[in-house]
Parts: sequence; structure tokens; C-alpha cells
Amino acid sequence: MKKLYGATTNSGKLREFGAEPLPGLAAIAPCEETGQTFEDNAIQKAVYYSGFTTEYVFADDSGLAVDALGGAPGVFSARYAGADATDEANNRLVLESMAGIADRRARFISVIALALQGQLVKTFRGEVEGELLNAARGTGGFGYDPLFYYPGFGCSFGEVPLARKQTVSHRARALAAMREYLKGIEANDGDPGSAA
Ligand code: IMP
Repeated sequence: MKKLYGATTNSGKLREFGAEPLPGLAAIAPCEETGQTFEDNAIQKAVYYSGFTTEYVFADDSGLAVDALGGAPGVFSARYAGADATDEANNRLVLESMAGIADRRARFISVIALALQGQLVKTFRGEVEGELLNAARGTGGFGYDPLFYYPGFGCSFGEVPLARKQTVSHRARALAAMREYLKGIEANDGDPGSAA
């Protein structure tokens, strides 16, 4: 069975994936993210980085989609407040954009693309629904976690340990789907063609 490498330098994501990062990733010129959808960007990254190894590579594109903002920040989640925006700046802008808006429904979305030697194998999508708080709560997680109230927990993603977030998170769901798929390939002697 081939190895599986994750292509991300985001430490929050790496922790959640629990995957080995692609060796030498830091020395590779970063991939452009010019897509209009999570799928486009995840595919762009996975296909690009999988050209640097003969093993499987996966990349995820993820973000927060707020219903009342028409799905924003969406694919711009990491740079909502500008190219090198901090999590704090992005969170502040989301709160400002939502000032006075009663409909707080939002979801986290993760799309993982799996690729092999420059070819897309498959994509996997995970989502989790919650509500935006009026102010940050908790210091755990990363990105928009302190603003994301998850009704099933009765608190924000910033207030729960990583292991608890992982039981429901968009990323964990997409990852589980990919692992299931890879098990199918393994059972099939490494041939992705006839896996489910
Ligand atoms: P990407 O690296 O282009 O996929 O951008 C992902 C961005 O979406 C992150 O920088 C966060 O701002 C946001 N995001 C994605 N997943 C999460 C999460 O699990 N918690 C909080 N913020 C997230």
C-alpha cells in the first residue's frame, strides 16, 4: 500500500488530520489558489503537490460559509480581511459584517482532494452546521472556531478539546470518507479504478 501525505502547512489543519506532511513541503513553491469553489482549490493543491512524490497526496480546502452573507467568507475564509490577515482580523470582520443580523446560521465546509502523481483520484466533502456567536468564546482550535457555536455541544468549537471537535467536524467527516475510500483501494490490491 502506498503512503499518504497531507499537503498543508497550516498547523491547525495538520493537527486535525493527524497525517504525515509531504516531505520537503516547506521548500516547494506554494500552490496558487485561484478557484471559485472549495473543490477547485482542493484539486488544484492536491494535483500540484502530488507531482513531488510517488505516494498519495491529499489537500483540503475549507472555510466558513455564513447563510446571511450569501456563503461568505467561503473560499476566502483564510484571507477575508486581506491577503495576510490574522485569525483575529478575520473574526472581527465577520462579526462586523453580521452586526444586527438575526439569522446566524453558518457551516464549516471541508473538501479533501486525493491525488496521485499529478492526477486527481477523488474528492470528499464534509460539513458541520452551527451558528455564529456575537463575540468569541474560548481559546481552543484555530480560525473561526471561537465564533462557531455548535448546538450539539452547547458551546463554541473554541471551547472544546480537539478530540471532541473531531467527533463532528467538517474536516473529520471528509477525512473519514477518504480513509474509507482508501480502505476500498487497499482491499482491491491498490487499484483505484474499481474502488467504490
Ligand atoms: P484554506 O487553508 O484555504 O483551506 O483556508 C481555510 C480557512 O478557513 C482557515 O484559515 C480558517 O480561517 C477557516 N477554517 C477552516 N476550517 C476551520 C476550522 O475547523 N475551524 C475554524 N476555522 C476554519
